[in-house]
Amino acid sequence: MKRKRTSEPVVVKRDTSLPILQKSNEILSALAANDVLILVSDTGSGKTTQLPQIILDNAPNSSILITQPRRVAAITVATRVAAERGATLGDTVGYAVRFENKSSRTSTRIRYVTDGVLLRETLTDGFSALKRRYSHLIIDEVHERSVNTDIVLGVVKEALEPSGSPATKQNAPTGLGALLRSKLEFKVVLMSATTDAEKIAQFFRNGTSLNVKQLGISGIMHKVNTMFATEPVADYVDGAVEAALQVHTGYSNSGHILVFLPGQEDIMSAIGLLKGKLRHRFSKEQRRSVIILPLFAAQSPVEQLRAISDLPESMRATHRKIIFSTNIAETSVTIPGITYVVDSGVAKVRTLVPQNGLYTDVLRVQPISQAQAEQRKGRAGRTGPGYLFRLYTQDHFNKLEKYPIPEILRIDATSTQLQIIALKHFGRRRPEQNHLRFSMLNKIPRHARERALETLYALGALDKNMKLTETGELMARIPASPMLARSLLESLRLGCIDSMLSTAAVLSVEGSIFLRPSNKLEQAKAAHRRFLSPCGDHLTLVNVLHAYLQRAPTRKTEFCKDHFLNHRTLSVAEDVRNQLSVVMQHGDMVSWGLTHPFPPAVMEELEESGMEDLVRRCLVSGFFRNIARRRNEDGKYVPIGNVKAVGSFEQGVDVHPSSSFRAFRQRKIPSLVIYDELVWTTKMYIRTVCSIEHAWVPLHSSNYFKVRNFGVDETAPSAALNSRPG
Ligand code: ADP
Ligand code: MG
Repeated sequence: MKRKRTSEPVVVKRDTSLPILQKSNEILSALAANDVLILVSDTGSGKTTQLPQIILDNAPNSSILITQPRRVAAITVATRVAAERGATLGDTVGYAVRFENKSSRTSTRIRYVTDGVLLRETLTDGFSALKRRYSHLIIDEVHERSVNTDIVLGVVKEALEPSGSPATKQNAPTGLGALLRSKLEFKVVLMSATTDAEKIAQFFRNGTSLNVKQLGISGIMHKVNTMFATEPVADYVDGAVEAALQVHTGYSNSGHILVFLPGQEDIMSAIGLLKGKLRHRFSKEQRRSVIILPLFAAQSPVEQLRAISDLPESMRATHRKIIFSTNIAETSVTIPGITYVVDSGVAKVRTLVPQNGLYTDVLRVQPISQAQAEQRKGRAGRTGPGYLFRLYTQDHFNKLEKYPIPEILRIDATSTQLQIIALKHFGRRRPEQNHLRFSMLNKIPRHARERALETLYALGALDKNMKLTETGELMARIPASPMLARSLLESLRLGCIDSMLSTAAVLSVEGSIFLRPSNKLEQAKAAHRRFLSPCGDHLTLVNVLHAYLQRAPTRKTEFCKDHFLNHRTLSVAEDVRNQLSVVMQHGDMVSWGLTHPFPPAVMEELEESGMEDLVRRCLVSGFFRNIARRRNEDGKYVPIGNVKAVGSFEQGVDVHPSSSFRAFRQRKIPSLVIYDELVWTTKMYIRTVCSIEHAWVPLHSSNYFKVRNFGVDETAPSAALNSRPG
């Protein structure tokens, strides 16, 4: 007899008192009368979970796409909404994030995706497919102003413009679907907590005939008692731990504590510190009622859910959660039962710093904006009166920026620039969209734009007229940075796709693959030794991943434990590898490899190269910006691919202490290396480094370097982009 699979959907009750549900009629009529609705209300008022349901309940033929800035938000919210509707996740309610799709083309009516997924799908299917497939597009958390959200807003503005051309009709769905859909129009909703809604409204009105409506709905925020520090806190980790401890001991009523800290390292050290202090002051029995949990982006969804989800009923009265989180808990996810919030006042922000002649994408701890501080506050007043402890003074708060600085103004623009050019390019190929413009809320700053265009040109993604090439089209379709995408393409013509896929996977994961517990450091180092590659870190990591992939699923945990490896990171790497592998097997990719062969002389040379050489050649073709040369005088490296102007960087950098080069007994010191990132800790380091050969550079880095100068210190990226537009 066949065993029946039991996949009974979980059911939870919808909270009918949520402000958004109270105002559903007002929202529906605003939606009916306008093209774009900007909906602003406090976090927790029901925007993300309720609005799609309101739309679907009102018009059952609707098909709704909602973007979220983070994977974990898309997954948890879809899970919650499916439960509220008594549906199986992936059926009427589903989600899609970068490496996972739990939705169905035919039956999913409410689909939560990350904004990255929306961009990818627009790139592959086009703007018009978006309009055909969905009746409603909801962009959530617009206030975060991530680059992806900003590009999506540009895409949406474009998609909203009526094309008026008969070409659209030819692509329209036929049959019953068309009959039903033709009654619906494409509507866009932008949702946010605190935001500069007027700026966004203006953006959509500007140069269009769109009807744009702003609607604010007041939440049900309970009173939050706010306490400021009376003087600046010297160390925010110590300060946060002390505050959490005081709340735990001084405020006896129940309610969880949420502590905002900038990043993973701070969170882990705060947890260590708090545990130590608790051990000192409480008995084992008392400590059992405190559950301390971290929450940050690099965790697996399962780990994140542990922090986010409610305690079992039986534990609620007796146990208290203390959650140390990054700004992930600021808006997009709901953690039930928070009464106390401790706000460090800082967040980690990625910023491109053109400084000392070097461009560095650094994660820096920076003060948050007033809008973010208010969001953090709101987390304490969801279910009843709450308490907020700000580890900064009232005066400091008054001086903060009003809103966060949009990501597009801060980061390296190479990926963004390629996406924008590709979106325009694909749009133009469709006859009904030859009017295509592409406007954005904020332009990419000039220095970042120039550097991006120069890089894309050197990668072969753009031609001299800054038009997308065939290579660029393919690069835009690979879900990885342009540098990594180019290396993957190179591997198709060098015949080392398998190893390059592994390299791409280990470079794509956040967090370290090697574990180095301080109490077993020597043991860990010894275990890591067996993976060492003399070529450097990239290939060492590939050795680890390959060993991991060879283990049977049931042996993987044990393998990681024995070798001091991070199982979570490796399993993510495996997923990434599988996903990229599917993309790279596409016929267009394979034929690119076949139609771009090297000259016969080079082919001969390649035939004698081992896998490790081939992979490093691929890295040169993508990461030439990250080439560094060792200086004889002091052994420091000069990042020659990164200089803004010849000779303007003299400081030199060291190889990061974690590098596999440091593990060799007689240190092999390569004269030329390629690195994955420049990091600032106590000083500047290059991290994830492998050696390369001089001869590879002119062959694989096309026109980035002035080839004839290569080999002397004046080497500089070719500034010979004479015909740069704008
Ligand atoms: P908004 O998008 O306006 O911030 P949400 O729709 O995310 O609001 O959440 C509305 C309310 O639904 C929350 O305040 C909470 O009460 C409830 N809720 C949402 N997600 C969950 C969840 N995963 N678990 C428990 N309750 C939730
Ligand atoms: Mg929300």
